[in-house]
Amino acid sequence: MNKLDSPIQKLNKVGATIAGRLEKIGLKTINDLIYHYPFRYDSFDGGVKIDDLQVGQMVNIIGTIELIDSKRSYKKRMSITEALVNNESGQIKIIWFNQPYIAKTLKMGDLVSLTGKIDSDFTGMVMKSPNYEKILKTTFFASAGIEPVYHLTANITQKQLRFLLKQVKNNISTIPDWLPENIVQENNLLSLSTAINKIHFPKNQSDIDTARRRISFNELFLTQLQSNLIKNESNIQKSKKIKFKQKATKTFVDSLPFTLTDSQKKCSWEILQDMEKDKPMARLLEGDVGSGKTVVAAIALLNTVQNKMQSVLMVPTEILANQHFASLKKLFKKSNLDIGLLTRSDRLINNNKNQHNKKEMANIIESGGVDIVIGTHSLIQEGIIFKNLGLAIIDEQHRFGVKQRKELTLKSGNNKTTPHLLSMTATPIPRSLALVLYNDLSISIIDQLPKGRKEIKTSIIPKSKSIEMYEFIRKNIADGRQAFIVCPLIDISDKLGVKSVKEEFKTLDKKIFKDIKIEMLHGKLKSQEKEKIMKRFLQNKTKILISTSVIEVGVDVPNANIMLIEGSDRFGLAQLHQFRGRVGRGEHQSYCFLRTESKSEKTMERLKALVKSNDGFELAKMDLELRGPGEVYGTNQKGFPEFKIATLFDHKLIKETNFAVTNLLNEDPGINNYPLLKDRITDLQKNIHLE
Ligand code: ADP
Ligand code: MG
Repeated sequence: MNKLDSPIQKLNKVGATIAGRLEKIGLKTINDLIYHYPFRYDSFDGGVKIDDLQVGQMVNIIGTIELIDSKRSYKKRMSITEALVNNESGQIKIIWFNQPYIAKTLKMGDLVSLTGKIDSDFTGMVMKSPNYEKILKTTFFASAGIEPVYHLTANITQKQLRFLLKQVKNNISTIPDWLPENIVQENNLLSLSTAINKIHFPKNQSDIDTARRRISFNELFLTQLQSNLIKNESNIQKSKKIKFKQKATKTFVDSLPFTLTDSQKKCSWEILQDMEKDKPMARLLEGDVGSGKTVVAAIALLNTVQNKMQSVLMVPTEILANQHFASLKKLFKKSNLDIGLLTRSDRLINNNKNQHNKKEMANIIESGGVDIVIGTHSLIQEGIIFKNLGLAIIDEQHRFGVKQRKELTLKSGNNKTTPHLLSMTATPIPRSLALVLYNDLSISIIDQLPKGRKEIKTSIIPKSKSIEMYEFIRKNIADGRQAFIVCPLIDISDKLGVKSVKEEFKTLDKKIFKDIKIEMLHGKLKSQEKEKIMKRFLQNKTKILISTSVIEVGVDVPNANIMLIEGSDRFGLAQLHQFRGRVGRGEHQSYCFLRTESKSEKTMERLKALVKSNDGFELAKMDLELRGPGEVYGTNQKGFPEFKIATLFDHKLIKETNFAVTNLLNEDPGINNYPLLKDRITDLQKNIHLE
């Protein structure tokens, strides 16, 4: 039998090509495959009703083939396969182009599962070129029709993935359970191997529920255990005291173009008081988008420099690193500080011209030639050591794991002390939950927006109002403002009918805004290119920026007052709220326009929630109710990397895991009686995802 760490190529029907595709979604070993959980399940019995279908919907239909035929269309020079599929809820026409073999594979009377988009022609609803899968009637009825659905990459089908998972069933049954037996029993949990087996091969809803409960328990339990262990560890750590420098702080605050909000003052004060202690600060600064976390961080940075110590600020993206580099240079213009930028593309000190190589940059930092270093993951990867690190800040901390947080604090050149740590996030985690989950962190919340902020006017724009909307944008640009346009995809993809950056760029640049400077920004561009584009936008040289979700976190362009989101149904509410937070940052009245092709009631309900509410926390909670867990923070590895299944709103389970962790640590603080669990925690800290 293959081992858990065997490469995925060991499986039947996985050659180099398929292995390459699987690697794109992080599946390299059998283990990776096992822990690639379905994000949803399709149920065949209930399912969508054919008579209720609407144009534009992506659906899965199970039905029987009534008729199937393939013919050549000489006019269009292609073959057309047409089928009629029906079930008790109705009948629909299916068309495939240039796939004549389908008429040979599928026969009248076959039961099929079809996944694709609903379209229409003169005869009514049709489904064009759906993915299809023949279902054996015996297995269909035996399995009660629950099918897992996985996140995939191009050129891998659900069918293929399920085929691979069937091959590792034996591996799953050998997974040892690292959770102490008494905890499993007391909490009425499935064994680990049973849970993983059921998450991939459920027979009914109760299998899914119990499996998810066990796996959520794992995730919450480990996060809390780890955070408690870190807390115990940091109780014995020492750090250098950073004295509050009242005069310098006052001068700095007075130099700001605005007055701090009471919330900002209170949070700054909590941070400064922590830093005066010889015990490392571990504080989480929470504040909705636009609440002004950066300037609070700047006050902590300033005090660190005034105490002749270095600081580091780690952020999740290069765009954000560049932006913080620029804005901190500006904020500290009069303070005569040396500020550095370290990302994969840049190694700069103070100015944007002199690029240093890795070694030079490392030397400058280690010799104390720079006061504040701003950077991305590169800070951790490039083995940087500081001469005298007093403060480590992490912006958008939910994008990083516990492990990276820890690694950043190990950068202090002085082995005897640990730097103070400040984590910042715009993710709305209620205080009571954060206290349990991030027990090692104290919490400060900025719960008020700067004065004078106008509410961002949010509206759903129907297709019929497109011209008016574009005219409105044009008028605002004429008044000196700028606009963001977000699209779900980069490349044109007619298959999904979803708007893409490139396609929108073409139409807007060539037709609608011919005379206005527009640029595109997306993840496929080189970072230096991205940075230049961002810079031109910041300088108001570009008026419209069309981008993918890369602008989601942190981007701050106060002059931009319009955020237009195409295909807004494709994003979560919390994410849409983050996009919207990109505008409304200056004194100008700002607008958020939501567009969608979807007519589904559920979508409308979600978007209307966004129109009504401007509260990130409320929206995240609503999203959870409307879309279910996993989709709120969980997709694309975004949000909480440590949570694939667990949700932050599962108060009951969080209480249960907290209780289990506390009991365990009381009884065995070093978890020495549970070697499997201890290994699991060590692995976690090495970031190996063995569950
Ligand atoms: P976030 O909390 O989302 O990181 P930022 O720190 O980027 O927010 O601040 C958003 C914008 O608000 C910035 O342009 C910043 O200069 C401005 N700002 C911060 N604090 C205040 C304040 N007290 N009054 C007015 N504007 C402020
Ligand atoms: Mg920010």
